[in-house]
Amino acid sequence: MQKLIDIANTLTFQYQYKIGMVRKRTFGLPEDRVGTPEWQARRFLTNIMLGKTREEAVLRASYDIFKEYKSVKAIAAADSTVIFNIMRRNYIEFAENKTPNMIEAARRLSNDFHGYVPANRKALQSFRGVGYHIASIVLALAFDQPEFGVDLHVRRVMSRLGIFPRNTSDIEMARIVKDVLPANQVGNFSRSFVDFGKRVCGKTPKCKDCPLAAKCARSGKRARIPEPQQLILFDERVA
Ligand code: SF4
Repeated sequence: MQKLIDIANTLTFQYQYKIGMVRKRTFGLPEDRVGTPEWQARRFLTNIMLGKTREEAVLRASYDIFKEYKSVKAIAAADSTVIFNIMRRNYIEFAENKTPNMIEAARRLSNDFHGYVPANRKALQSFRGVGYHIASIVLALAFDQPEFGVDLHVRRVMSRLGIFPRNTSDIEMARIVKDVLPANQVGNFSRSFVDFGKRVCGKTPKCKDCPLAAKCARSGKRARIPEPQQLILFDERVA
């Protein structure tokens, strides 16, 4: 697993500026409220929109929703048509499922959790539309817990780099990353890996610009590399 450690060190260094920006996202709040329970709740509700949708679209929809509804309590009482239309115009996939999931999550946060997002996986995954991947992201970015998110892009790049065989489950992949890396690096590696997958090792990988080319057996072999099959264990898209 030395290869995994080397890759994690390279990427967390390369993307540290971006990691810092992601951690400081305000979700429509003043900067001095980053890290507060309201901010954690907004991050959580925003992440409910993630499945099968580009992050940029999710952030745009989140901005519009929190412009219309100024608090989590307001979303709990929101008109579902308004939320649905905001999602649709921002190209959020499965808006018909994500709209009720978001409103119900806001209601549960307000009524059952006194406005606080629970900082544990079991409680997070009890929310409709929240699977293993979204819970990992929330725990890593809202609570600084050592969690590693695995989605289709992470799976694709890990497979290309030859770190994990294609049939490794999401949970097993995350467990090994957490075992191998220092706890305070896991969340940042997770974030930097997502950016690397988007900017460099996408569907058509830019091997010439890749900081990991020397470690990658697939480097430059083909302009386009077939996608690995996704092994869906927790499907937040349809819940
Ligand atoms: S060398 Fe190419 S295939 Fe390998 S990780 Fe870099 S971009 Fe992806």
